[in-house]
Amino acid sequence: MGKVIAVTNQKGGVGKTTTSVNLSASLAKLGKKVLLIDIDPQGNTTSGIGINKADVDNCIYDVLINDVPLNEAIYKVESERLDVIPATIQLAGAEIELVPTISREVKLKRALKTIRDRYDYIIVDCPPSLGILTLNSLTAADSVIIPIQCEYYALEGLSQLLNSIRLVQKHLNTELKIEGVLLTMFDARTNLSIQVVEEVKKYFQDKVYSTIIPRNVRLSEAPSHGKSIVNYDPKSKGAEVYLELAREVIENE
Ligand code: ADP
Ligand code: MG
Repeated sequence: MGKVIAVTNQKGGVGKTTTSVNLSASLAKLGKKVLLIDIDPQGNTTSGIGINKADVDNCIYDVLINDVPLNEAIYKVESERLDVIPATIQLAGAEIELVPTISREVKLKRALKTIRDRYDYIIVDCPPSLGILTLNSLTAADSVIIPIQCEYYALEGLSQLLNSIRLVQKHLNTELKIEGVLLTMFDARTNLSIQVVEEVKKYFQDKVYSTIIPRNVRLSEAPSHGKSIVNYDPKSKGAEVYLELAREVIENE
């Protein structure tokens, strides 16, 4: 059975999408079968992995709202050895359209049932909110990866996220675990980055990955070429660290 990992933090710009895409591609490079799901209406994972949204027939919206079977929304990205379920801007409506529906929080979990055993890992890139799309992800997930940017206010808002995780554990998914906390956009030249690492380690202790993602310009360039970092620049520091993270994720099993 594939392990479902939600990459989540309700803050925007902390590295959720960068981590979802590059961890998925790194796991695939290490020989794992990976399904990458974009559940953010902005669809940054979708375009970042080279899918043209204009060409998308079925996206995650159709799975959640129109009960389209998940396997009819899978796009094969051969160059990355990845299966991807894209998101288009249509998904922005789902947050409201799901409100009156029955069992609205378990839609993704149910949809995943039929295909879980085909994969080793299913990585879900969450939107920057704690709304119904994130709830669906947390309900479907075995565990969460929380990216934290090494910046001012890094820990701000985390209590809200942890509270949502606790609520989901209590009511919707008793098995949900914290897979790991990932420090991102680290800059060794600044005291601030070093302080944030210390603070986050004090708070989350052994949950913090020993892999720390530095700022790396190649990581920010790759999406505009529709490629993961392991494909765009396999020799870059960015590719090196995301492969290291993938190994850590596999070893944590
Ligand atoms: P989120 O999905 O949490 O909103 P993103 O992954 O989209 O965050 O990252 C926000 C911005 O920061 C993007 O422009 C991305 O390319 C850039 N970025 C993310 N991680 C890094 C990194 N390690 N080094 C340099 N730029 C990064
Ligand atoms: Mg994102």
